[in-house]
Amino acid sequence: MAADARDAARERLAEELAGGRFLLLPKSRAAAAAGQEPAAPKRAGSGRAEVAITAAVPDIEEEAGVSKQEMAERLSRFKSRESERAERDRVAAEARARAEAAPPPAGMAAPDDAGMFGGDPLTDGSLPPRERLAAMQEMVAKCTLCEELVANRTNTVYGDGSPQPELVFVGEAPGADEDARGLPFVGRAGKLLDKIIAAMGFKREEVYICNVLKCRPPNNRNPLPAEAANCWPFLREQLETIKPKLIVTLGAPATKRLMGTEESIGRMRGAVHDYHGTPLIATYHPAYLLRSPNQKGKVWDDMKMALKVLGRPIPRHKKG
Ligand code: URA
Repeated sequence: MAADARDAARERLAEELAGGRFLLLPKSRAAAAAGQEPAAPKRAGSGRAEVAITAAVPDIEEEAGVSKQEMAERLSRFKSRESERAERDRVAAEARARAEAAPPPAGMAAPDDAGMFGGDPLTDGSLPPRERLAAMQEMVAKCTLCEELVANRTNTVYGDGSPQPELVFVGEAPGADEDARGLPFVGRAGKLLDKIIAAMGFKREEVYICNVLKCRPPNNRNPLPAEAANCWPFLREQLETIKPKLIVTLGAPATKRLMGTEESIGRMRGAVHDYHGTPLIATYHPAYLLRSPNQKGKVWDDMKMALKVLGRPIPRHKKG
């Protein structure tokens, strides 16, 4: 920048400062604007580029091609994302502390419930995963613990997919389509789950899919705590058998059951929780997304977090 132009810019800068108008710029750009050698870009612990508050000099704006209003909007979006993330971390920490301190509500996973270790295994733990799952599936088909569910079911719906997956999805309970076919997530919500799985770069048969309840509740009502408690040993042993690297819970009933919490999905999502040493991410149920498609972005954010936990690349998708 020539000396005259720099003086003019300084004057404008003084006016801007007097008017109290500021702009957020990366530190390297701020240094360049001030005529200094830009420092090597630093990365904060969070991975975001370090930023500096600098004055809004018009020629900097032109160079950046971004208006003050746009920058102010970006700053406010940045701040609100930061505070949302902090709030979710706080809620997750609180939920963990509560789960550790208090016994869970009836029908929920006890925080000290160490799966098969310390509990009675339902099947032979020395069997390979596929055989162990098949043995449990037979037990589920004969289960008569929940009178109302047994009286109304066509098929039990045990689970579907790889017996040794990286990723398991846990839903709530079978619906009419699942009851008719004996497979989880094969109706409308299932089609959407298939799309989510494909968008993550998996084939359906590479992941494992199951539910809290193995029988359809009449009229798709929510599972009763007693039903969830009756079915719990099946789900617990299923997870213990397939030993996934990551569990994704779809909706509140699955999240409540596995995390022993009463928190809503809105407050549990966006963080990585711990299920007896296995990372767990809670997200919205696909049936909810069918009713509220504007929430799909949040589920995709959660799935990107899931891919990061698994150390897998995040596929790029066109919008729309
Ligand atoms: N909703 C669920 O939670 N599970 C299914 O299997 C189907 C729909």
